[in-house]
Amino acid sequence: DTREFYRDTWAEVDLSSIEENIRSFRGLLPDRTEIMAVVKADGYGHGALPVAKTALEAGAAYLAVALLDEALSLRKQGIQAPILVLGRTRPEDAALAAENDISLTVFQADWVDEASVHLKGEKRVSLHLKIDTGMGRIGTREAEETKNLALKIEEVPQFCLEGVFTHFATADELESDLVDKQFERFARSLEWIRETGAAPLFIHCGNSAASLRFPDKVFNIARIGISMYGLAPSEEVKSVLPIPLKEAFSLHTRLVHVKKVQRGDTVSYGATYTAKEEEWIGTLPIGYADGWMRRYAEKGHALAGGRKVPFAGRICMDQCMVRLPHEMKVGDLVTLIGCQGDEKISIDDLAAQIGTINYEIPCLITSRVPRVYK
Ligand code: PLP
Repeated sequence: DTREFYRDTWAEVDLSSIEENIRSFRGLLPDRTEIMAVVKADGYGHGALPVAKTALEAGAAYLAVALLDEALSLRKQGIQAPILVLGRTRPEDAALAAENDISLTVFQADWVDEASVHLKGEKRVSLHLKIDTGMGRIGTREAEETKNLALKIEEVPQFCLEGVFTHFATADELESDLVDKQFERFARSLEWIRETGAAPLFIHCGNSAASLRFPDKVFNIARIGISMYGLAPSEEVKSVLPIPLKEAFSLHTRLVHVKKVQRGDTVSYGATYTAKEEEWIGTLPIGYADGWMRRYAEKGHALAGGRKVPFAGRICMDQCMVRLPHEMKVGDLVTLIGCQGDEKISIDDLAAQIGTINYEIPCLITSRVPRVYK
């Protein structure tokens, strides 16, 4: 028995879509602008390793993750491409980054002092200096602070200032003065860096939204996350996409039980659903512990037999119920995200339904749901 899992619920990740999305970005961006594929949070729920491999094969030059642990995990699984940790790493872990050839984000002078104490070996760590031009999250803000940090990095032989970057707060909004301000502040910050004599190899500011909207203005590497997975960064950007995006993630399950209920019978916890007539109810082996949120039941539906079928009653931890248009068989396919016949439930539909952003939907599908790669 060589099966990898024994449950009737799985997510399908179409790696050829990810490959096409990267190739589309390659065509959109100028030749001088490389691609850094953002595979943090287990590749936005798609699986960091297969996404990383696919992105690299399709032309990405660099990978980005949020945490040192995520970078180490990719290294353990054989990824040799450069990896940048976008968040703060503890200074005492700089040696671990050096050993594993992992690039780190830095924005505090103290960090350089503390980390250098821990660096005894020969191996160098590549650092990317983060500038806060308006996101208000991490990064230096002032001229002196920024210059001082760049100079400090240059003083430590085990450090190399490989990059300087910033992150936009509103690049996904078509009318935002903040984007222009951030571009201006970043340009000024690069001037400060230049004044110290440092000449970092990579300058970057583009997330998916900025890279889609201003491909010529994101310097020499673009950090592409959400749109590599085939999703638009916002509804606004969706209306002005310069390249096609192919959604990679779909979610499927199979009926584990089908029964006829009578008018007045109730379904699931709280008995909130009451059959209005004789109805066919199907049970699905997926619940909120899989990231199939209770709120999806409110106005949501699944696809069965090529038709939309509403949820019946509350979603449980491991199971939920749907109202079927007619009798169906145990084992019949039910699609929760993706296409059946002419019908489609997209990640954007689900996000709109529960009042969140598309990023959250695949991230929330837990590791209990196996990812199957196509
Ligand atoms: N750069 C940084 C610093 C990020 O935090 C993120 C993701 O949140 C990205 C790039 C990728 O952004 P997106 O998924 O919108 O392309």
